[in-house]
Amino acid sequence: MDCLFCKIAQGTIPSTKVYEDDRVLAFKDIQPQAPVHLLVIPKKHLATLNDAEPADAELLGHVVLTAQRIAREAGLSESGYRLINNCGSDGGQVVYHVHFHVLGGEKLGPLNI
Ligand code: 5GP
Repeated sequence: MDCLFCKIAQGTIPSTKVYEDDRVLAFKDIQPQAPVHLLVIPKKHLATLNDAEPADAELLGHVVLTAQRIAREAGLSESGYRLINNCGSDGGQVVYHVHFHVLGGEKLGPLNI
């Protein structure tokens, strides 16, 4: 499958990993938008959040708890951070493999909503 994040999960494209287990991978974003900008992905290919099914609930819960873990390990627990999933074209998704952005390390501006 020609998917950038599947290749990163398989190790065929390098990344700076911050956490990995059998189901998820977390790594540094290549173009950080904040002092801390990490990405968390399930290793299972789901193109968008819309492709998740009830059977994926435990996996997605693990992804979110991994985001909490890497935020803590990056020193963001006290100050806080933002967890974002961009879904589809209007959501601004560019890479079609579900991922959550962990952003922090500075006071983030308000969302445009
Ligand atoms: P999206 O807009 O799909 O939610 O976010 C995709 C993110 O993936 C962007 O923040 C972008 O900087 C990041 N990204 C794109 N290509 C690569 C890559 O090859 N390596 C890493 N580490 N991040 C990438």
